[in-house]
Amino acid sequence: MGRVGTAGTLGEVNTQEIRLFGDPVLTQRAKEVTDLDGALARLSRAMVDTMYAAPGAGLAAPQVGVQRRMFVYDVGEGPETMVNPEVLEARGTWTFEEGCLSIPGVFFEIERPKVVTMRGLDLDGNEITLEGDEFLGRVFLHEMDHLDGVLLLDRLEPDQRKEAMRILREQTFAPGTAAPAAHGAL
Ligand SMILES: [Zn+2]
Repeated sequence: MGRVGTAGTLGEVNTQEIRLFGDPVLTQRAKEVTDLDGALARLSRAMVDTMYAAPGAGLAAPQVGVQRRMFVYDVGEGPETMVNPEVLEARGTWTFEEGCLSIPGVFFEIERPKVVTMRGLDLDGNEITLEGDEFLGRVFLHEMDHLDGVLLLDRLEPDQRKEAMRILREQTFAPGTAAPAAHGAL
């Protein structure tokens, strides 16, 4: 499903449906990207549009139904794409109230490493190594989890998980009426 934007030089705005908790695509390990081609660049643009529309700060390919190891993010410095990412190093601890665009309305404080060093490819196939501190590090780890079929719910303490399941049970989702995402949703 796409729609044509009116933003002239920005071209077509192409948002995709974000897959929600319960969709099996979210619990499988995504495969390596093998072709860095125009189709991948188009997917990246559509994912960035979808992320901004949500709104969110990160989005992994499985969240739009594509089982490939790729994610996009924007922590305030413009959209970035990481292909076939791996975590080189993660250190320290940082607690952050984390949300997921695939689990609308559920936010929990989760402790994860504070500083995360990632290696991957950009859309041109150039190797990139990036260090993310605090929120960027959190984006990296959250999106990496998506590529491995791991959801935020899997990272919760037992009592948090119980509360999350209660929230999810009490939400009545009609198509297109998901609770609005907040800043921290990934
Ligand atoms: Zn997520």
